[in-house]
Amino acid sequence: MPVAHTHGVSFLFVSDHPALDFAATVAWRTTRPVELLGGPQDFARWAAEAGLVDRLETVSRADLISARALREAIHRLALAAAGGGPADPRDVARVRRAAAHPPVRPVLRDLGRVERRGGVREVLATLGAGAADLLGGPDRLLIRRCAGEPCTRLFLDRSRAGTRRWCSKRSCGSRVNAAAYRRRTQRHDHA
Ligand SMILES: [Zn+2]
Repeated sequence: MPVAHTHGVSFLFVSDHPALDFAATVAWRTTRPVELLGGPQDFARWAAEAGLVDRLETVSRADLISARALREAIHRLALAAAGGGPADPRDVARVRRAAAHPPVRPVLRDLGRVERRGGVREVLATLGAGAADLLGGPDRLLIRRCAGEPCTRLFLDRSRAGTRRWCSKRSCGSRVNAAAYRRRTQRHDHA
């Protein structure tokens, strides 16, 4: 399936977990996949916007390929967790390898001021460690798929009743409701 690449998009952080937000940097996976990490600078920007690191100075093409490979492993594992399917041991090993490296360490400078310095390996280690905690622990049972097709974002359902349906009520929830409303009113017009 051809994958469209985009640059300069604004990233969404609505999955309630950095590893799931990372997995969502390919959008519309089942229909017309869009690669949001089209170039090394996109990954640098995503990592800073995600709050994982203050700045990623240099990201190479090879770094981007490693980042995408970790992302795809996390996505497949999270999807398996959401659907109750088996995990591919190669994906498990990839997350384990990423998490084996020291992560980005927060350095407290003052009240309200924390520095996060690191390179690509540290950022991937932070993501790998987060994914390990998520996928290895009970929160994996809270991973859901967004009901707002064609959105394929996974999120954590932390709602008390366990009834969260959309990655974001504002984008997917309102889009789905608007489409349902249009269908209802169109039927009404033709009646
Ligand atoms: Zn969605």
